[in-house]
Amino acid sequence: MKKQIIILFLLITTLAHSENLTNVTVRILTTRVITTFIFSPLTGNYMVYGDGLLLTDCDPSGIYQMNVENDSIRLKTFEKNIGKYASIKFYSKAPEAVFKIKSVNPLSKVRTYDNNLEVGLSPDKKQFTLINNVDLEKYISGVVQSEAGKRISMEYYKLQSILCRTFLLTNITRHEAEGFQVCDDVHCQAYNEKATELNVIKAVQDTRGLVVVDNDLNLITAAFHSNCGGMTCNSQDVWSISTTYLKSVKDTFCLNSPNAHWQRSISYEDWNTYLQLKHKYPVADSLKVATNTSFSQTYGRAVYFTDKDLKIPLKTIRADFKLKSTYFSIEQDGDSVKFNGRGYGHGVGLCQEGAMHQAILGYSYKHILNFYYKDVHLVDLSALKYFKAE
Ligand SMILES: [Zn+2]
Ligand SMILES: [Zn+2]
Repeated sequence: MKKQIIILFLLITTLAHSENLTNVTVRILTTRVITTFIFSPLTGNYMVYGDGLLLTDCDPSGIYQMNVENDSIRLKTFEKNIGKYASIKFYSKAPEAVFKIKSVNPLSKVRTYDNNLEVGLSPDKKQFTLINNVDLEKYISGVVQSEAGKRISMEYYKLQSILCRTFLLTNITRHEAEGFQVCDDVHCQAYNEKATELNVIKAVQDTRGLVVVDNDLNLITAAFHSNCGGMTCNSQDVWSISTTYLKSVKDTFCLNSPNAHWQRSISYEDWNTYLQLKHKYPVADSLKVATNTSFSQTYGRAVYFTDKDLKIPLKTIRADFKLKSTYFSIEQDGDSVKFNGRGYGHGVGLCQEGAMHQAILGYSYKHILNFYYKDVHLVDLSALKYFKAE
């Protein structure tokens, strides 16, 4: 009981940074430079505000176009020009409202989102900053569908829901200086549109408010990746941060999944030049040269390439050559150096393809959670309100 109270106290402290626990502000279409777009309600009615003043009500027949014009936002319908503003807000009148948005310049497909849209301009006033002010659990549903994909088992969706919620709460101040909480790119978590998959929506509802804490009662860094290749990584080997729960585990569940194996060839000359110029690799030393094309990780993951003294981090090689993972062995193949790789992603925390396979085999989300994260606990945030009322 005492431990539970401490957990709740720490969570309150952690969440004090979050102004609002029920809604989250997400920058959407983050990677696009949008100068013209169209907004339209799909279901429900909206109120349209310009610079904070209510301009009009809008039902699903309403269509609004906005474009960047002389450092302002021009708002118009098909019938008329409404005006120029610094900011525009479309606020839904009901919690189930959904809107459509279509970028016209550049041209892209229609996307749908839950709840509200806040339209502003970038600091240089050359493009839109579009912020979806959305119910937290609806946002989590959108993230789970974007991160996990469609037609995955229910138990996996539940697990992903809990991890995405935990990740959100530990990263809620990431974009504070820019006027929103998280972006929709992989920098934070992928959030492509509102969830449509019924199992995703149900899984998020079934795990509503659940988050993961470690033995020290802090929300965990809920790291996950596509495929570990058979063994996950210690967090300190990838990010130089040691945790009690992000520990390397052997995982045979992902070995037959799509991202379990990869191959890549680089010319021997390019490889040698890279090692010499970037890492001062002693290519004149014949013994060292002989080992630079016979690197093996057959019996487990390494942190450094070939030689501990040189300390060339595998994560640097991965980044420089845009390799799928650091879990590779190499061999010379004529004029080329052949990389035989395993897995996809940084390798820390949950292996998505392994976890999906475990869910298909019938393991519960709690079992899978404890397989990839050591000594962690599930906590229900809904207890917070009760605790606060005490
Ligand atoms: Zn971000
Ligand atoms: Zn795995």
